[in-house]
This record gives sequence, C-alpha cells and structure tokens, in this order.
Amino acid sequence: MTPAKPPQASTTESTPQRTFDHRCIWCDSISHSRRIDCTEFKEAMQKRLITINADNRIINATTGEEVPPMFRRGGMKKMVALITNTPMIAFY
Ligand SMILES: [Zn+2]
Repeated sequence: MTPAKPPQASTTESTPQRTFDHRCIWCDSISHSRRIDCTEFKEAMQKRLITINADNRIINATTGEEVPPMFRRGGMKKMVALITNTPMIAFY
C-alpha cells in the first residue's frame, strides 16, 4: 500500500505536462513537433484542405469541422486524406 500523496501544487512550473511524445500533429513525424515546421502541413494549408479556426485548431476547410489528432496513427494528414479523399496525401 502506498500512502496517498497530498495534493501539492507545484509552483515552479505552470506549463501543463503531456504524456505523449513530441510528434507532429499533422504528419506524426518525430523529427519535428510543431506544425509550423511541417512542410506537408503548409502544403495542405496552401491547397486549402485545412485551415485554422479562431481557437487555433486545425479544421477541415470544406466542412469547418475540427480534425481529430491521430497520434501514432498517421497524424491528421491521414485523417484529412480520408475525409477529403485527397490522393495528394500519401498514406502510410
Ligand atoms: Zn509534420
């Protein structure tokens, strides 16, 4: 039995910790973790497959619906390829 830890708030950092790897939300690559570093993301933006809404989320430019993250499953790229039926996006 381990004693329950008292709820002590850490005052040093307010940054939320996430448990998943630093993967690109768009292409699921681990070589970069930010979408602004992702050339494929920029390409999809230029082709108007996706856009960014007021909440800074990636949405389907056609339907306006948010694209769910697909970490470890090909990234949003795969999801957008499915929902937009766009062959320009390579499948894994
Ligand atoms: Zn990427």
